[in-house]
Amino acid sequence: MSRPRVTVIGAGIVGVSATAWLQKSDFNVTLVDREPVGHGASFGNAGNVSPGAVVPYTLPGVLRALPGWLLDPEGPLAVRPSALFEVLPWLFAAAKNSTVEAALKTSRAMKALHGGTFEAYDALTLGTDAASLIERSGQLYVSEKPDGAQGSQLARMMREEAGVKVTALSESDIHDIEPALAPIFRSGMLMPDNGRCKNPHHLVQAIAGECERNGATIVRGTVSCFETNGKRVTGVVVDGKVEPVERVVIAAGAASGKLSAKLGARIPVTAERGYHITIEDPGVAPRIPVSHVDAKFVCSPMNMGLRLAGTAEFAGFDAPPNWKRAALLEKQAQRMFPGVKLNKVTRWTGNRPSLPDGLPVLGRAPNYDNAFFAFGNSHFGITAGPVMGKHLAEIVAGRKPGIDITPFSPTRFGR
Ligand SMILES: Cc1cc2nc3c(=O)[nH]c(=O)nc-3n(C[C@H](O)[C@H](O)[C@H](O)COP(=O)(O)OP(=O)(O)OC[C@H]3O[C@@H](n4cnc5c(N)ncnc54)[C@H](O)[C@@H]3O)c2cc1C
Repeated sequence: MSRPRVTVIGAGIVGVSATAWLQKSDFNVTLVDREPVGHGASFGNAGNVSPGAVVPYTLPGVLRALPGWLLDPEGPLAVRPSALFEVLPWLFAAAKNSTVEAALKTSRAMKALHGGTFEAYDALTLGTDAASLIERSGQLYVSEKPDGAQGSQLARMMREEAGVKVTALSESDIHDIEPALAPIFRSGMLMPDNGRCKNPHHLVQAIAGECERNGATIVRGTVSCFETNGKRVTGVVVDGKVEPVERVVIAAGAASGKLSAKLGARIPVTAERGYHITIEDPGVAPRIPVSHVDAKFVCSPMNMGLRLAGTAEFAGFDAPPNWKRAALLEKQAQRMFPGVKLNKVTRWTGNRPSLPDGLPVLGRAPNYDNAFFAFGNSHFGITAGPVMGKHLAEIVAGRKPGIDITPFSPTRFGR
């Protein structure tokens, strides 16, 4: 008997992880992407793998900080005037979610999704080229304020409730852990159980390569819409040609909102653009990822050099990059690591798939029995990707997933 078939749209960390887990559940998978594997947000992120990421961005204080950030051209958040009309409803919805009660609910859902990241990666990568790319290295958080590194009282409470291990650090502790850092940091926090990915692009490629060796078909093409019959999706249109499907998964990152709308679902995924610079031969580098808590970016030692990644820009999907945002990261690198050599720097921009309540969508599509959604991991997709894939495979197979997926419901914004 032939194995049941699934078509997965999107070969980022979520799509390739879903493919690998679906294969473990004996599905025959076709993975479709308009770009080469791993060229979306999964290409150029900061590579933080963070089971302890339980503090959402929709915190009460964030709203108060928003005007200041928006007015500061060097601030961590920017909205292009041309995108304001598109972005305002999203920001308004995010504001509604920034109550203490809503943020606590989000935090608990984040723990359920992020907590098992290393175990999920182990299951996917053990014995493959990808295994050496993930390291339980710990992560360092630093602030130029005396009590800034651990964040607000609420953030501390969320970590405590989730049982996340944290060590508070003094100035001299910070220096002992990362002597390369400028002596400008007044407080620090070590999260010893978090870790890093040494090359997110290679990680996605390696998982996809393993899927291919296990029989998955990888197709290059753009999915524009679907063919349906009653409550079933019968085909996906790839480069204008209808390909029949038995089951379909949308894991297309920031583009998933447009695709799920073609199936009648209204899910407010926006493209929250980020930037990185990667410095080859920086001459100086931290050993573990260091997050600048005040300026909201991450410095990650990677196989190809030192990467600084961050900034949140709402510019609309197709606006050209504003490379000034990346240039800002060069300035930050010099401030953080005196003596850093900026001779060989590459720049990149990518779209985080972000929802206004800070949580992704994971589950069956509202209007179709054989369509499934797995997207919207905003700042945490490298952490959540393998766990999303695992639970998605359970859902597609008709089994109960290992976590409560109610907070990730595709219908929580209405039908
Ligand atoms: C600057 C920055 C730093 C970050 N740092 C971290 C971090 O340190 N830790 C962390 O956990 N997360 C981090 N993230 C977030 C993380 O990168 C994303 O959440 C994650 O990569 C999303 O993965 P994805 O598979 O959902 O989407 P993507 O990687 O974007 O993949 C989606 C794929 O779908 C394809 N696609 C889209 N539309 C179509 C279509 N119509 N037809 C066919 N294919 C289509 C795209 O080509 C793409 O390959 C960061 C993000 C940014 C931007």
